[in-house]
Amino acid sequence: MKDSENKNVKSTLRRLPSVDSVLQNETAKKISEKVGEKKAAELSRLAIDAVRVKILSNDISANFSREDLLSKTETYLMNLAESENRSKLQRVINATGVIIHTNLGRAPLSESAVEAIIGEASRYCNLEYDLATGKRGRRGLRAEKLLAEITGAEDALIVNNCAAACILVLTALCNGGEAIVSRGELVEIGGDFRIPDVMDQSGARLKEVGTTNRTKISDYKNAIGENTRLLVKIHPSNYRIVGFTETPNVRELAETAHENQLLFYEDAGSGAIFDLSKYGLDDEPIISESVAAGADVVTFSGDKLLGILQAGLIVGRGEIVQTLRKHPLYRALRVSKVIYSAIEAALESFRRETAFDEIPVLQMISVSAGTLKKRAENFADKLKNKSNLSFEIVKGFSVIGGGSAPNTKLETYLLSVKHEKHSASQIEEILRNKKPPVIARILEDKLLMDLRTVSENEEKYLLEVLSDL
Ligand SMILES: *Cc1c(COP(=O)(O)O)cnc(C)c1O
Repeated sequence: MKDSENKNVKSTLRRLPSVDSVLQNETAKKISEKVGEKKAAELSRLAIDAVRVKILSNDISANFSREDLLSKTETYLMNLAESENRSKLQRVINATGVIIHTNLGRAPLSESAVEAIIGEASRYCNLEYDLATGKRGRRGLRAEKLLAEITGAEDALIVNNCAAACILVLTALCNGGEAIVSRGELVEIGGDFRIPDVMDQSGARLKEVGTTNRTKISDYKNAIGENTRLLVKIHPSNYRIVGFTETPNVRELAETAHENQLLFYEDAGSGAIFDLSKYGLDDEPIISESVAAGADVVTFSGDKLLGILQAGLIVGRGEIVQTLRKHPLYRALRVSKVIYSAIEAALESFRRETAFDEIPVLQMISVSAGTLKKRAENFADKLKNKSNLSFEIVKGFSVIGGGSAPNTKLETYLLSVKHEKHSASQIEEILRNKKPPVIARILEDKLLMDLRTVSENEEKYLLEVLSDL
């Protein structure tokens, strides 16, 4: 660097604003109202540092005035505050067509579940208080009763998620003993939840039987020894073995377990309450059927096919569920009043048999391709006077997601959006940066939106966002 340049840089650095002067500014004041003075000062300091780096690297011209530097700093400050804001938990519009989208929070709550949370559970409530006697009551009693009623089980228990339910069942019923599992079911569900590792954690010893594709009831029978406590069936969720396969059904496994004074545990994963085969979901265990076939305990997720919210649901024989309830681990895995209230409200929809109208996941699974086609056509029609946009309606598939029913393809009609100036990935980015953000799919340089996962209310917003492009 020449001496004169060096001098220029030095004098520019002297014109850098102080933290105090940045904080005097309107932009900083607004940010300060949101994040507090301390955080605003910290962000201002970072913004000044960023400008300093630009001066030192000669990316900012030496003839920048005090005001220029201040305004540059403000811009950095705004960006810093914005990026902090973007990571905050916020609603998004899911136009991907993936119904139980794990990255987007799996199941959206039903209206009555939201009302129950806001109206009841967000205040003082009778969580552990019996209004009939004025004495202490049992936590979760009503939700557990509804769950048992709907599934035909003797009793039920609710924990944080299905992973917690598995760990509780295996720890309480099999610690130090052996659990027999088919080699075809030693799966990884995702997010590092691997069945053999979960067994290890719980202190249950895994005894593998059969082969990857075929396991017979005789394989389980032959493996039973004096340390065996459990026969286990795990739904493979996001994975299927097809072709030359065999696996015993729930009734055979339950009978075999009981003939040998053992327990039979099924981890059903998705947790279908109804038969969903007419929507193409034909290999999801129906909880009431597993219970009726003799399973001693069944676990499933609250936010997969049940469509409620994150929770681990356990149903089974009274005595077994009571053992789980009394286990010290349960205290660490139990849920809050907010969760119970949402589950109660949603289970009431199941009991009334209005779940397909009221539970968003079930609405989305059951809506017909014909209806979606009409919605897509109406949608495109409303934007037909936007000359820079063009729509094509193409046949495609929606996905169940969440590790459920990987082979199920729900026929849908996708809106393929083209813009005269922006590429598909540019539109995707613009939509993702809206408030609320819209998440769409890109396939072969086309931007695709599936209205199956967009509610009718959200459609209006989506129309606005697209007309702004
Ligand atoms: C999804 C799944 C789990 C984990 O459920 P979470 O509710 O996500 O914890 C466990 N077992 C099976 C078979 C599953 O499908």
